[in-house]
Amino acid sequence: MNKLIILKIEMSCGDVNDCISPAVLCDEENRVLVDCGYVGSLPKIEEALRQNGLTPEEITHIILTHHDHDHMGAAAAFKQKYPDVLILASAGEEPYVSGTKKSLRLEQAERLQSGLPEEEKAFGEAFCELLRSVEPVPVDRALREGELLPFCGGCQVLATPGHTPGHISLWLREFDTIISGDAAAIEQRRPVLPNPRFTLDIKRAEDSMRLLLSHPARYVLCYHGGLFEKENNSEPL
Ligand SMILES: [Zn+2]
Repeated sequence: MNKLIILKIEMSCGDVNDCISPAVLCDEENRVLVDCGYVGSLPKIEEALRQNGLTPEEITHIILTHHDHDHMGAAAAFKQKYPDVLILASAGEEPYVSGTKKSLRLEQAERLQSGLPEEEKAFGEAFCELLRSVEPVPVDRALREGELLPFCGGCQVLATPGHTPGHISLWLREFDTIISGDAAAIEQRRPVLPNPRFTLDIKRAEDSMRLLLSHPARYVLCYHGGLFEKENNSEPL
């Protein structure tokens, strides 16, 4: 039987505490982890998998919605320890995930650094250091917009650019659910754009979030904030 398992993992990263919700798509042949935690979080991911009756060894694929440190932070460590896992990311994110191009998030953070007020400069530099510590991981397969992956009876790749240019979300028809990555987050039970300050293209991010919220799928699983049911369809933005 196909299953969508939502991991709930408490993370702390410097002063920031966060609860993330990576998903695992389980079908007869595959165990697909969607997004892979902060830098250094592999032990927590392994533990969360075990708590949910899975082992890290049985993960067949990792899909990365985008190249941010909190989504691909442990992907390289995972691949090193469990080399059979295949890494999937969109063609647009592939150069940043694999490290052939410099992280756009790091470029942005370095650019912002000079304009920060004195009291925020140390935080800004620590953030840049954190981004520099993200280990790239080769992408085994680049995904195309609209592509239908065979997981759980069909998992469609939705292009949801804005947060990063090649950001993707996943539509799981069987579960009536979209996995949003960072195309939307939940705060106070409402969908919002995560970290608008770090969103690379606000206009496109707003359009992507609108797309998710107007999509017929009933649920949106947000990496930051968990599962959201679009019952009284909240007004986007
Ligand atoms: Zn994130």
